[in-house]
Amino acid sequence: MSKNLLRQAQFLLSAHRLDQSPADSGVEVAFVGRSNAGKSSVINTLTGRRNLARTSKTPGRTQQINYFSLDERRRLVDLPGYGFARVPPSMKTHWFKTINAYFERRRSLAGLVLIMDVRRDPGEEDLQILEWCRAVDLPVLILLNKADKLSYGAARQRLLAVQAGLAGDGRSLQLFSAKTRAGLDEAAGIVLDWLAVENGEA
Ligand code: GDP
Repeated sequence: MSKNLLRQAQFLLSAHRLDQSPADSGVEVAFVGRSNAGKSSVINTLTGRRNLARTSKTPGRTQQINYFSLDERRRLVDLPGYGFARVPPSMKTHWFKTINAYFERRRSLAGLVLIMDVRRDPGEEDLQILEWCRAVDLPVLILLNKADKLSYGAARQRLLAVQAGLAGDGRSLQLFSAKTRAGLDEAAGIVLDWLAVENGEA
């Protein structure tokens, strides 16, 4: 399947609650990450669209699940970020419940891209998400974004350190830069594989 599919991404709808999501058919790939890790930038780089996923630094707006359609059967999903400095407990609970329910119930979900800042260790929420994915056997691609902020050697070291910390687990983990597009072909290849699988087109 070609990268052009990703370039067809168009905003579909925002869901505040899971039941406001589009019909759970076809196949979708979701993106999640701590605020400021570069989730919006990664989505925009993968789709070749500068402003598709918009950055929001206001916690109030981060609760939404944003759906983008690629074609009639395939979607990308921008899940709410986490890790904002001042978030009321009620909002944290809402995030927790929404994301958990999304992973547990969403049948069309074929894979998750977890975005982390290469310079930070996985946080509590990152680990929680990985645990949920393991529980439902969902494939995960971890992108260590902002690799351009480190030297090549330092970035490689971070990759190995995070890999060791996560105890392997058969997950894909790679360096990425939304700025320089390093790692773009590999990441796009995995996302496209996931999008094709349910349709027998892989
Ligand atoms: P989000 O909150 O996870 O959606 O993060 P954004 O995509 O809004 O990115 C947060 C900040 O990091 C912005 O200022 C981006 O320009 C910057 N950023 C994102 N990805 C990269 C990257 O790969 N390299 C560098 N140097 N900066 C990045």
